[in-house]
Amino acid sequence: VAGLGGWPARRARIAPDRTALADPHRTLTYAQLADRTARLAGALERLGVQRGDRVAYLGVNAVEVFETFFATWLLGAIAVPLNYRLSGPEIRYMLEDSGASVLVHSADTDALVDAAAPLPAGVRDVVAVHPASCPAGGRDYGAEVAAGPALAEEPSVGLDDAALILYTSGTTGRPKGAVLTHGNLTWNTINYLAHVDVLSTDRALCIAPLFHCVGLGQVTLPTLFKGGSVELVPKADPGVVLERVSAARITSFSAVPTMLQMMCEHPAWDTADLSSLAVVQYGGSPVQERVARAWLDRGVRLLQGYGMTEASPGVYMSTHDGTAAHPTAVGVPHFFTDVAQLRDGRPEPVGGEPAELLVRGPHVFPGYWGRPEETAASFVDGQWFRTGDVLRVDEDGWAHVVDRVKDVFISGGENVYPAEVEAVAVQLDEVAGCAVVGLRDERWGEVGVGYVELRDGATLTEEQLRAHLEAHLARYKVPRHLVVVGELPRNATGKIRRVELRTRAADEHA
Ligand code: AMP
Ligand code: MG
Repeated sequence: VAGLGGWPARRARIAPDRTALADPHRTLTYAQLADRTARLAGALERLGVQRGDRVAYLGVNAVEVFETFFATWLLGAIAVPLNYRLSGPEIRYMLEDSGASVLVHSADTDALVDAAAPLPAGVRDVVAVHPASCPAGGRDYGAEVAAGPALAEEPSVGLDDAALILYTSGTTGRPKGAVLTHGNLTWNTINYLAHVDVLSTDRALCIAPLFHCVGLGQVTLPTLFKGGSVELVPKADPGVVLERVSAARITSFSAVPTMLQMMCEHPAWDTADLSSLAVVQYGGSPVQERVARAWLDRGVRLLQGYGMTEASPGVYMSTHDGTAAHPTAVGVPHFFTDVAQLRDGRPEPVGGEPAELLVRGPHVFPGYWGRPEETAASFVDGQWFRTGDVLRVDEDGWAHVVDRVKDVFISGGENVYPAEVEAVAVQLDEVAGCAVVGLRDERWGEVGVGYVELRDGATLTEEQLRAHLEAHLARYKVPRHLVVVGELPRNATGKIRRVELRTRAADEHA
């Protein structure tokens, strides 16, 4: 019985009274977590949930998210955490696509559950975490847990069984459900622990939302595996995170670069006590060098990770000693991770000119839920996952994310990597963010259009920006058009919605 559902009970044998999870409302020891997980599994079983069934979860980070995950995993069922920032129809699509039979949801998502109506016929039960929000005919989660005897007999759950379906952020097309197995998440944990020092005395803060792999795979599961404590923040806010780090003497957290940037620009940054922090792990999109420096200057050990949902998520990570010398590099591959680069359709050893990265390892997912063709297309030779990212790997093995394969455009026969141009733009203090997209052009094939978001109160003319870009970049890389916008369109995980910008560029500069 190697399933993730057994983790709380296994930890409780070693250190029952240590704090496992906390949120603003509750604190649970490992023994309490194991007990509640087993009862909730019993309750879900009485609702008819069987091995392989899908249990959807909708709600902000809270202790209940983990209770529900662990209970679902004990049954050999599959947890499907959903993004609470989506619209009703998007939630309905994911419930339908995953074929969920139960939806567990928190109080603050009542309106969203209503907006998703009519729920697909397959959804047999709705369990409300907060009694007041229990819909007519719905179930009260607290009562189910309190009333229930524990699961009579634990099914045997193996490493190859599916544990999670995570809908990928979907900057293009309809979101696909990436299936992650118990083994995928276990190996990601082992990879993380082989790379990063995690202790049973750690106090981690979980700020990334748990419907995304970063919230779960990086920091959180490794800390629970080691028997440390995880405090959950309902919604990530830079001021709250700074306050919790100081007040709870937090030792580690994982975040997207946007959060690190908001934190070091926050009024409380200078007075916050960061002395307890041993590790701050970040990734998901490129970090600006000045942001990395601001954290390094405070004596914090920064680790940049590169990964993706399909890899559970860790692929590359920087090292304690290396970050200061390579502040924007993503480091070296994880312990049990194989990497290659796609050249002429074949996997080749990494190194040389930038090329698409391929990944193989026990943490790489088996495929997308119900999509055999898209799954087959995402692997080379049936074993190497195509990341869709262009990376440059230096001679010392340290890698840099150059860009998304599909964002690269060709101007006058030359490859332009928008990320390279954006990195130069954000060197200017006035620039908060930048996105460059390709636009069809009769003469050059494609030209760039750069969208720039300024910092609050900053002013910058197009001429000043253009002069800076021309001073640092080859002519063909400098966008033909530069546009200052109030705010760049971003999705829930902070990624810029380029499809929207491409459409806008085509409309405005046709
Ligand atoms: P997701 O599809 O939401 O799982 O996000 C994975 C994608 O985020 C990767 O394919 C990369 O394009 C991007 N990404 C992840 N980590 C980094 C990083 N450290 N630097 C730049 N891009 C990253
Ligand atoms: Mg992706």
